[in-house]
Amino acid sequence: MSSVAQPTKKHEGQSGAAKSYQGACFCGAVQFTVTGEPAAMGYCHCESCRTWSAGPVNAFTLWKPEAVRITRGADQIGMFAKTPRSYRKWCKSCGGHLFTDHPHWNLIDVYAAVIPDFPYQAAVHVNYQETKLHIHDGKPKLKDLPKEMGGSGVAIAE
Ligand SMILES: [Zn+2]
Ligand SMILES: [Zn+2]
Repeated sequence: MSSVAQPTKKHEGQSGAAKSYQGACFCGAVQFTVTGEPAAMGYCHCESCRTWSAGPVNAFTLWKPEAVRITRGADQIGMFAKTPRSYRKWCKSCGGHLFTDHPHWNLIDVYAAVIPDFPYQAAVHVNYQETKLHIHDGKPKLKDLPKEMGGSGVAIAE
């Protein structure tokens, strides 16, 4: 309520201020930002991703919940949970997919496709034993998931 201009306080760590990236659904009714760096990025080849997205692979970016902020259309977000491990979210206006909450990891998968300005860099392919689309990019192909995420951590051939 003060008319006095607040000095801009920047909390710059060694890597500088955390960057934010804009995201939106297919129609734009839902808008959001992600801030900082994701915990992980890659491609998921599992059957659940495939059948829900109707696409052969899912390009994922995993973020701490506090890094994801809905800025518009929160009431337009629909949700479906086939299992308590994945709360899949989409825009009720256009049907465009947005996120999958993974409460057991305390991470949110923000689909790389809905944050077009984010410099997406896949590090790994997961659930590759279920693949329907072999991708020869030289990146590691895990049979299921990394050990620290409850998988075997075993790598398989491209
Ligand atoms: Zn939409
Ligand atoms: Zn998947």
